[in-house]
Parts: sequence; C-alpha cells; structure tokens
Amino acid sequence: TSATLRQEITLKELKAWNSIHNAFISLSDVKKFRVGSETPNEPLKGVSIAVKDNICTKDFPTTCASLTLKDYCPDEDATVVRLLREKGAFMMGKTNLDEFGMGSSNAASYFGPTFNPFFPEGKHVPGGSSGGSAAAVAAGMCYGALGTDTGGSVRLPAAYCGVVGFKPSYGRISRFGLVAYASSLDTVGILANDIGRVSCLFEAIEGADPKDQTSRRVIENDTANSSASLSGIKVGIPQEYFMHDLDSHTLKAWRDCIQQLKKTGAELSSVSLPNTKYALPAYYVIALSEASSNLSRYDGVKFGHQSSGCTGFSRFLTQNRDEGFGDEVKRRILLGTYALTSEAIDDYYHQAQKVRRLVKQDFDAAFSHEPAGVDFLLTPTAIGISPKANQKHPTNSAAPYLNDVFTVPASLAGLPAISLPWNPPGTPPVGLQLIAQFDHDNKLLQWADLVA
Ligand code: GLN
Repeated sequence: TSATLRQEITLKELKAWNSIHNAFISLSDVKKFRVGSETPNEPLKGVSIAVKDNICTKDFPTTCASLTLKDYCPDEDATVVRLLREKGAFMMGKTNLDEFGMGSSNAASYFGPTFNPFFPEGKHVPGGSSGGSAAAVAAGMCYGALGTDTGGSVRLPAAYCGVVGFKPSYGRISRFGLVAYASSLDTVGILANDIGRVSCLFEAIEGADPKDQTSRRVIENDTANSSASLSGIKVGIPQEYFMHDLDSHTLKAWRDCIQQLKKTGAELSSVSLPNTKYALPAYYVIALSEASSNLSRYDGVKFGHQSSGCTGFSRFLTQNRDEGFGDEVKRRILLGTYALTSEAIDDYYHQAQKVRRLVKQDFDAAFSHEPAGVDFLLTPTAIGISPKANQKHPTNSAAPYLNDVFTVPASLAGLPAISLPWNPPGTPPVGLQLIAQFDHDNKLLQWADLVA
C-alpha cells in the first residue's frame, strides 16, 4: 500500500489513525516519526520502532494491557529496547496486546480491541497477542515493531495483517525486561514489512545478555550461505498440517508457494510430524501452568493493582487480583493452578511435558535424517484468514484456541519460525510459515528472503 512507502508520518496522522485502529496504548509526543530508513550503512538510525506493551521501557508505562499494571513505570529498559536505542532507533510508543499476551485476537485488552487495517470498512481482528504491533506495521506507521511470541503471538498477527513476523530460536534474543507469561516458551519476536528490515532488527538485538541466563550468542553453524539460491534446498511439507478445516485462501496460497518453490530448483518432499495433534493441548497445559506461577506476583503488595476499601490481609490480596485481572487471565490462572495440584499434575503437567518431547523428536527426525533430512518446513501460519471482530464464543468453547494449532509446535520445540505474507494483491492476507532447525535463525531468514 502507499502508506508503507512513506518515509515520515506526523503525530497528527498517527493519532487520527490510532483513534480508529487502537493499535497504540501510549505514544511519544514528537511531531514527526521517521518510518523509512535514510542511511543504508546505519539503517536503524532515527527510525521509529513500535514496542509491544509487555516489554519494559523507561519512558512509557508498561501495562501488559492489564488494569493491574496500568500505572506501572519500569525504571529500566528491556535489553532489546536498550540495544535498539544504542543503534539510534527511536521508541515511538507501546502497542496493544491481549492482556499479558494471553490470546489470539487482541480482544482481551483492558484498553479495548485493536482492528486490522487491512479491512477498513468491516471490523476484523489483527490476530494476537502482538496485534497492535502487526497493525502498526501493516499500516506503515513504523519502521518495524517488537512483539513477543510464546505460542504464535508474532506469527499469527503477522499472517492476519499481511506482514512478516519472525520468532527466533528460544534464547537467541534476551528477554530481560519482558514481562513473563510462560518462561519456557517466551521469545521476543520482530514484525516488519519485509525480511530485510526483520534481519536488520534481529542483528541489532540478538545475542547473549548477562541479565538473561537463557540467552546465547550463536555464530557457528548459523551463517547465511553466500550462494543465495534455493536450488537443492530441501523443503518438507508436513502432511499433518493438511487439516480439513483449512480455508480455501490458505490452501491455495500454500499450493501456489509449493509450485513456485519447485520452479526455483528446491527439492520438495512430504514429511510426517505425527504428534502435531497433541501439541495444542500440551501447549495450553504448559503455558497456563507457567502463567499461574509467573502471575502470582501481581497481588498488589510489590506489583499490581491495589483495591481500595477492603479489610483483612488475605481479603486484600484476593480482591486486588480479582479486580486487577481480566476474565481470560483469571480463567488461565485457575486452569494452570489446577494442572499443577498434586492430584492433577501427573495427568496434565507431566503428560504435557512428555508430549513436548515427542513434538521435538518429530522435528528432529524431519530435519536430521540423512539423506532425506529437510532444510526447512513450509506450512500455513493459520487455518484461515482474519476473522470478524466481536465474535462471541460460549465460555466453554475451545474455538478461540484453535487458531494456534500451526504455530505452537515450533514453540514447544524452541525452533525459529517466520510467517510470510502470501496472497494475490487485493485478496485477504494469508501467512505461510517456514520452520527451521534450532539455531538456524540466519539461515531461515535467508531462505525466507528467497521464498518471498
Ligand atoms: N494464543 C496463544 C496463547 O494465548 C499464544 C500467545 C502468545 O504467543 N503470547 O497462549
């Protein structure tokens, strides 16, 4: 769109746009934002970056789109934010999300839903939970954006909004200053309109950080290949991802891409990831269990909302949490707490950990078996296109959780994955996902660039 080609936008334009799309929770008050890069040798100098509001910034509140943190002002930047500032980038504001990253539509925000800029007349969801970041990128309101991806929260909104969304290998980018949802899955991810920008942002923020013991720098085995062609590259098509509820746009995009790859000389083969169907339930047991523990700190004593006018200490704690969290967060804390109780832990949490191991083994088999081992897998990112906003589901419905079925397997295995927009102009955005072996992040970015 013409918006994506702009070099600068004014605060006034941004505010007018935001009053309709609600992508930003807070905004800088400078008069102009540079959204295109002027200096090729220092591409991040002066460009404006949108930051998901669960990543700490010292000049904006960090709310996690929750009442409980609505006035929380961290006194330190997250490492990713600090690194971007050191490269000269400008943090323009904080973007909307599902409360604490829990959701796939952006409907679960204390600050109200974000709307997908691709559908200006009808109201469609941008996907979640990094929906504000994806919407801002899709509308050309920033150079690029930071999101977080625990089970698909960068890739799904990228697919729904028609932009690129990259989730690195677990540990490749520091999480110091990211508000934890599920610590064994959380990653910081990157959204932008093209892979060049994603790679440039990745280079700026990846690497070991003494403040995050899970972070690493990887140099060996992950350098992009200089020949830069897909000829001879082995691409796996997982059969289990041909699900019967895949919509027609998505199936067509996937098939078109497969045909195009064949023309480039890539070697395509069918692979099997038999435990895919167990990944989604296992993900929700693990993520919710970890969330129940991570969110216990918001009791209004050290962190979180304090209720006024209640007496007694334990009443005070429960009321702070009851008022501070939205329904979806409470539901997840309850389920996660239950999965960790002594009577349920063997049936839920421990089983889910075993499934996680099996999902990882499926990927290992696809990537490493000689001579058939593939370089990357190609799948759809989501089952369908962005759904209409304000859809009501019964509270016991699993439907809102099914959108994550194609993104959670790579999360459970800690693998790098990227969603690329793949649809003819004028048709609704569809995302295709490339998944690579652990720590092949730079290789994945290079392959994705050749595919796109
Ligand atoms: N939709 C998934 C969930 O709600 C993914 C969220 C995420 O990646 N932060 O858990």
